[in-house]
Amino acid sequence: MADHPHDRKRQAGYTASLISSPDSPDTIAAIATAPGVGGIGVVRVSGTGLQQMAAALTGDTKALTPRQARHVVFLDDRGRALDDGLLLYFPAPHSYTGEEVLELQGHGGAVVLRMLLQRCLALGARMAAPGEFTRRAWLNDRLDLAQAEAVADLIDAASEAAVRSAVRSLRGEFSAQVQNLSAQLVDLRMLIEAILDFPEEDIDARDRLDAQQRLTLLHGALQQLLQQGRQGSLLREGLSVVLAGAPNVGKSSLLNRLAGDEIAIVTNIPGTTRDALRERIVIEGVPIHIIDTAGLRETTDRVERLGIERTWRAIEQADVLLQLVDAREGFTALDEQLFQQCPPGLRRIVVENKSDLLAPDPAPVAHGHIRVSARTGEGIADLRTALLAAAGWQPDGEDVILARGRHLQALETALLHVDAAASGVNAALLPSPELLAEDLRLAHQALCSITGEFSADDLLGEIFSRFCIGK
Ligand code: GDP
Repeated sequence: MADHPHDRKRQAGYTASLISSPDSPDTIAAIATAPGVGGIGVVRVSGTGLQQMAAALTGDTKALTPRQARHVVFLDDRGRALDDGLLLYFPAPHSYTGEEVLELQGHGGAVVLRMLLQRCLALGARMAAPGEFTRRAWLNDRLDLAQAEAVADLIDAASEAAVRSAVRSLRGEFSAQVQNLSAQLVDLRMLIEAILDFPEEDIDARDRLDAQQRLTLLHGALQQLLQQGRQGSLLREGLSVVLAGAPNVGKSSLLNRLAGDEIAIVTNIPGTTRDALRERIVIEGVPIHIIDTAGLRETTDRVERLGIERTWRAIEQADVLLQLVDAREGFTALDEQLFQQCPPGLRRIVVENKSDLLAPDPAPVAHGHIRVSARTGEGIADLRTALLAAAGWQPDGEDVILARGRHLQALETALLHVDAAASGVNAALLPSPELLAEDLRLAHQALCSITGEFSADDLLGEIFSRFCIGK
């Protein structure tokens, strides 16, 4: 059994609390479809002995054919019909979790689904914890950690670009790139360890050159992956923009123009919910969180003051200040005052709106300003480009990776150590191959943490607990 995935994970240092014993894997169940009313609803069950459970659920003792839907009547404990639906059976290990899985497809009502779930619980299953199906998939090597995270990212994706990117990660493209780099590091480590093991043998210049070239290649590849990840992180996190301007300069009109056909989808990701002071639009798949400064004024009202404080805190965290002025009037003293109050590092784009109302042959637009018309759409493309550029977004980034903060950190750490190793090699590394070996080890470890080969238990707990129940 040394080859069982759970054993390998135990050897990698995961504690028992994360790994239920393979000898007694309890059966879990949950409603897998979203709460609310729908045409169909799905209860998912994962564990063992599910053919028997299916027989008890339906009164039909014929063996289920793997992956073939069977039309059944779900029965309650007294044999009365509960619902009419489909039953799907996935034998281990060819299922989402790697265990036996049953999918009960019933009608999508809250009560009927709860009754179906209760029935499964009465037949020996227990309620699944949030993310437990995906955690089991990871434990059984059906997914690595980066792929498991991609499941959550796909579900939470708020734009088409984010969906495409999450699916690529889910299908293992990101993991494959990380593993490829990891394999290159292992090769290099072997070369260096050999030098360490046989110090008396002269390392010829060829080996050194070889190590140097490989490090350079590795460095380039890591940098590229990090860049793709940073782009993806923008798709996840978006750009925070402060929108300022006097009443009637056209802030609402501009927002609508900027958003164009891309509808902002409000998801339940913490921090993306709409409130009175925030709007959210999507440009080329990048979520743009707009902080409205309209309410920033002197007030004695306590509630309003709290709102204003919150707005200022949001401004402290923002990436770009979008200052909207009327093209006919230009920048006013009030605009300047607001700008002075903003954090010094905040990038600013001044937008002169209502260009359609300017007299013919207007004065040339000031340096750093963008002239637009929210009414005619003139200049809007330039503004979108400027906004995305301010965020560091590169258009047509086909290979964007929907990286999380911890992935970026791991890639940065790996890059740092590869850098250190490279400078050692270039400075005629020997006689300190120990340092070099240590840098390569740390770089390797950082990469492995992305796919979960080495990750702290608390990190895993955090990743899976953020899932909703049933995933
Ligand atoms: P806000 O108060 O800054 O949000 O401004 P609104 O977006 O509500 O716009 C105020 C008025 O200006 C409305 O009547 C808009 O139709 C008009 N407006 C906004 N942008 C333009 C523009 O580019 N050209 C013209 N001619 N009118 C505009």
